[in-house]
Amino acid sequence: MRLLIVEDERELAETLRRGLVAEGFTVDVVHTGPDGLWSAAEHDYDTVVLDIMLPELSGYEVLKRLRTKENWTPILMLTAKDGEYDEADAFDLGADDYLSKPFSFVVLVARLRALLRRGAPARPAVLAAGDLKLDPAARTVHRGERRIVLTTREFGLLDFLLRRQGAALSKNEILGHVWDAHYEGDENVVEVYVGYLRRKIDAPFGTHTIETVRGVGYRLVT
Ligand code: CA
Repeated sequence: MRLLIVEDERELAETLRRGLVAEGFTVDVVHTGPDGLWSAAEHDYDTVVLDIMLPELSGYEVLKRLRTKENWTPILMLTAKDGEYDEADAFDLGADDYLSKPFSFVVLVARLRALLRRGAPARPAVLAAGDLKLDPAARTVHRGERRIVLTTREFGLLDFLLRRQGAALSKNEILGHVWDAHYEGDENVVEVYVGYLRRKIDAPFGTHTIETVRGVGYRLVT
């Protein structure tokens, strides 16, 4: 689950980033309206947490411009009760949810998960390839009746591969979605994690769900 935070209060942004990463999200952070607009339009986020009072371009303006461009990424707005705007404005402009500051982190995570479950209509509740099933809401993976326990990163990787099943994905593309856009390490980390996954979802079952595409990367076969 890749998420963008647009928040100019750097301390708050960093606290949110750390907390959400611990919850298994892949998180990018920007601090101004124009950066938020650019990032949200340029990348394929699963959801955006958008503050209202932002330098240069307000959160409302960012939201309005995204919707005008027919970008329907789910957006949760952070509103301030004493602000110039209120919640009604957020919904009018096409926000999917809002939270008033100050808010509890637990509530934010619950709202984000609800938003992701609602998601785009094309996003199925349970992702499947044959008898391999991943439930994003319950955060469980099964092969047939058997439960497979994955780490947060393995889960994120399988989730991404399942959503793009049939497509050949480059290591770089996988890195950008499952790690984060600014990950500067070796892209062979993808190879390592594909190995971990194969040992859990394929080797014990004699299946070959994740194919190596020579010169490109990987493909999850259906
Ligand atoms: Ca602000």
